[in-house]
Amino acid sequence: MQTQQRDLVIAGARVFDGRSEQVAENQGVWVSADRIRRVGPVDDVLREASTAADPRVLDAAGATVVPGLINMHVHLDLALPGDLARVAMLDDPALALHMAEEARLSLLAGVTSVRLTGTYGHIDFALRDSIDSGRTLGPRIFTAGQLVCSTGGHGWQRSREADGPAGFAAAVRDQIKHGADFIKLSLSGGMAGEHEKVTTSQLRDDELDAVLEIAHAWGRKVTAHAGPALPTMEAIRRGLDCVEHGYELTDELCRLMVERGVTYVPTITVTRCREFFNRHRMPVWMQDRALAWGDRHWESLETAIRHGVSIALGSDMPPHAEFDGTSATVRELEFMVQAGMTPHAALTAATSTGADWLGKGATIGCVREGAFADLLLVAGDPLADISAMRELSLIVKGGRTVLDQHA
Ligand SMILES: [Zn+2]
Repeated sequence: MQTQQRDLVIAGARVFDGRSEQVAENQGVWVSADRIRRVGPVDDVLREASTAADPRVLDAAGATVVPGLINMHVHLDLALPGDLARVAMLDDPALALHMAEEARLSLLAGVTSVRLTGTYGHIDFALRDSIDSGRTLGPRIFTAGQLVCSTGGHGWQRSREADGPAGFAAAVRDQIKHGADFIKLSLSGGMAGEHEKVTTSQLRDDELDAVLEIAHAWGRKVTAHAGPALPTMEAIRRGLDCVEHGYELTDELCRLMVERGVTYVPTITVTRCREFFNRHRMPVWMQDRALAWGDRHWESLETAIRHGVSIALGSDMPPHAEFDGTSATVRELEFMVQAGMTPHAALTAATSTGADWLGKGATIGCVREGAFADLLLVAGDPLADISAMRELSLIVKGGRTVLDQHA
C-alpha cells in the first residue's frame, strides 16, 4: 500500500489547469491524500490548509503547476529490429520486470498516465493492477491489451493475428475479456515491418466493421495504426475513433476528422529520431524508411493543426527515452509547437485531450478540485516557452511525491 503523505500546499505558482487559456497567477494548490483538495488564490488556500495537520508548504513563486502528462502512444515492451530486439527474447517473468522498470522511468519523466497501444502477452493488465494498488511505481495505465492485426499485418510478431470478421471479433472479445480499456488495430503497414510498405492496406471492410461493432457495443473506443489517406478515411466513415501516426493526412481527411470528432496522435518523433535509432542500432532499411517519411509526416501534423483537428500527444518511443537532450515526451511537445501549435495547445494535447479521449477528463489531465493529484512543477513558464518542460522540479502522482528537487 502507498504510505500516507503529509498534505502538500504548492504556494505562489501560476497554474495551467489543462484547458483554460487563462493561466492563473499566484495560486495555491492543496494536495490531500490522493486528490487536489483546493486550488485558488494562494492566501485563501494557505489559510484553509492551515486546518490540516502540519501541511508541507512549498514556495513555488515563479514556477508553474501543470497536470501530469498523458502519453497516448506507448509500448512498455517496445521491441524493434536492432538492440531492442532483445526485448522480444525475454520470457514472460523477465518481460514483466522490464516493463515495470520502463513504467517507473516513464513516471520519473513526468508522465503520470500512459495509453498502451499494443502490448505482448497480457502482462500489461497485471502491471496496471499492481500500479493501481500502489505496489509498483508507474503511471496510470490505460491499455488496449494486444494489438489486433491481420495475419502478417503490421506488428504481427508481438500481436494477436486474426482473419475474417469472425476472427477479428474473437480477437477483440479476447482483449475485452482480459480487461482492455480500448482496442488498437493495424490498418496499414508501418516503419518496422520488413515485408510491408507504410501504404499497404491490411484490413478488409468487413473485418473493420466486425471490430467496430463489437468494441462499441462493449463501450470501448477503437484506434488504429494508420498510414495512407484512403483506408484511413474509409475507417473513419465506418466509425474509427482515433488515428495513430497519420503519415499521409490530407485536407479532406482532416476535415472528416473534425466533422466526426476523431482524435489524432501524431507521434511525430518517430520519423525524425535518428539519434534514438543509431543508439539502438536499428537496421539501415528501417532508419531510411522512417526518416524518408519525415517531411510528409510533418506536413500531416501541420495540416491537422491548420484544420483544428483534436490532437493528443503520443511518443511511440519510450516516454522517457533520451532524445535531443530531453525525453521523447517533452521533445514531442517541442515538435508540436515547432509545427504551429501554441504552447497552450501543445500542453492541452499532452493533458486534457488525452484524458477526454479516455473518458477520464474529470479526474486526470487537469488541475482542479476533486481530481487526482497528478501534478508537475516546472521551473519557468512553459506557456511562454514550451522547452521549460525540460526542467521538472516536482512530480506528484495520486498525491504521492515521486520526484522532488525541493526537499
Ligand atoms: Zn506504436
